[in-house]
Amino acid sequence: MYASDSIGSENRYDAVLIGAGIMSATLAVLLKELDPEMRLLIVERLDAPALESSSAINNAGTGHAANCELNYTPLKHGKIQTSKAIVINNSFEQSLELWASLTVMGRLSPKEFLHFLPHISFVWGGEDVAFLHQRYKDLKSLNAFSSMEWTEDKGELDCWVPLVMEGRNCHQLVAATRVKRGTDVDFGALTSAYLDSLLRNGAVELKLETELTHLTRDKEGVWQLELKDPTHSKHVSSPFVFLGAGGGALSLLQKSGIEEGLAYGGFPVSGQWLVCSDPELTARHKAKVYGKAKIGSPPMSVPHLDSRWIAGKRSLLFGPFAGFTTKFLKNGSKWDLFRSIGNNNFGPMLDVGVRNFDLVQYLLGQLRQNQKDRVQSLQDFQPTADQMDWQLSLAGQRVQIIKRTKAGGELKMGTEVVAAADGSLAALLGASPGASTAVTIMLEVLQRCWAQRMASKEWQERLRTLLPSFGRNLTIDSPCFNEIRERNDSVLADG
Ligand SMILES: Cc1cc2nc3c(=O)[nH]c(=O)nc-3n(C[C@H](O)[C@H](O)[C@H](O)COP(=O)(O)OP(=O)(O)OC[C@H]3O[C@@H](n4cnc5c(N)ncnc54)[C@H](O)[C@@H]3O)c2cc1C
Repeated sequence: MYASDSIGSENRYDAVLIGAGIMSATLAVLLKELDPEMRLLIVERLDAPALESSSAINNAGTGHAANCELNYTPLKHGKIQTSKAIVINNSFEQSLELWASLTVMGRLSPKEFLHFLPHISFVWGGEDVAFLHQRYKDLKSLNAFSSMEWTEDKGELDCWVPLVMEGRNCHQLVAATRVKRGTDVDFGALTSAYLDSLLRNGAVELKLETELTHLTRDKEGVWQLELKDPTHSKHVSSPFVFLGAGGGALSLLQKSGIEEGLAYGGFPVSGQWLVCSDPELTARHKAKVYGKAKIGSPPMSVPHLDSRWIAGKRSLLFGPFAGFTTKFLKNGSKWDLFRSIGNNNFGPMLDVGVRNFDLVQYLLGQLRQNQKDRVQSLQDFQPTADQMDWQLSLAGQRVQIIKRTKAGGELKMGTEVVAAADGSLAALLGASPGASTAVTIMLEVLQRCWAQRMASKEWQERLRTLLPSFGRNLTIDSPCFNEIRERNDSVLADG
């Protein structure tokens, strides 16, 4: 690798962000707001930003606020656990807060990426109806979910979710909760809007069709990065690197050699949706309707029937159906999984395979499904669904985290920031709740890697301008929470 003093000043940056998805784009916006003088480079291996998981067609576009996703309120020892739902709800509010501030500044136009629509949980059968009712009562008592509605009334359900009720067995016990203030977000359009705004002002450099292939730290602790574009390779240096490479972050973290990365492995899960663009059907379903995952199936398998807006066009989406490939990115290599296995993570990965036999069985079951089986699952939600109206579409890749712990390998369903002890590098692993909570996750990156500047009066003031609730605890500070929500709604709904 090159010595840092052989790299010209034009190739030295204050921060280099790998990957032009929602995570790097969010971090770039925050860093430039905090320090407009910062020299910042974003590197992307594909020929445009947001073509992997952040692309609207690769994810479900749910603004995850725990309004309707039943896996965020698991039942434990007979009690509904609400803590995760509260954290996710607060995080999503923080995302809305940033979007509202940037809208006021004239940097974002919410109608390009955000639509408000009801978030509904819909269940059938005595046990699931009882679960949902308990969840409703527990959440309704909390400020964040006080607007949640409940119904078992079939007439009311006909109005809430006509497609879900039409043709349904009239003797089936059904129930639903609704939060009208839910959202559908085109995270691909948002990523592009963030980057367009930064590029317009010359605030960042973006190198497309350029891949980070190697990284190493020199004696001074500065990162030396080897970047390859279609015609040549070049070297840049930076004291801070963010690996926002989505499914590709694990391999890069391993290449970085930092101690903190040694405990990790990854397990790829691909996804598929059924998509319908028939205008008659899309006009009759304006909600995100989440059901309950079957016993033993993993959280990412929660079935849902969603309204989507992609590039201004309405469609319906149902799924996800899981698949298996050894690629870590949709545009990755089938060697990704094998290359990621080494002495450090082989044992934990084996542990996870043995201990999560449910997941292995679930995936095998999903792989055996044909179109008829998929449409049958859809008919649990839309009893009158006709196979001819729905096409299969390939979703993005998720790489679930496998972490070495004292008790052996552990499979983690969430996201995790892995940072070098000296704060010179951070990587984001995992996928859920993902894009919706990007602002909170990137604030964690700043806190762990830019701790001194985060504590400075200057950055604290800038953060409070950008995120008026910054530093306040929205869970206990109801007046602040209500004020923030009111501002977010009035700016974003009008925008
Ligand atoms: C099926 C599915 C459904 C989902 N549903 C939702 C949802 O409803 N709501 C929600 O909030 N989240 C959802 N998510 C999660 C969300 O999509 C992700 O958390 C988010 O998009 C991740 O953003 P990212 O920037 O980390 O990664 P990505 O968007 O994948 O971007 C990573 C970028 O890094 C680039 N890259 C990789 N390696 C290199 C390299 N070596 N050099 C240069 N560039 C590189 C890639 O080309 C890519 O552009 C879903 C995800 C999936 C897969």
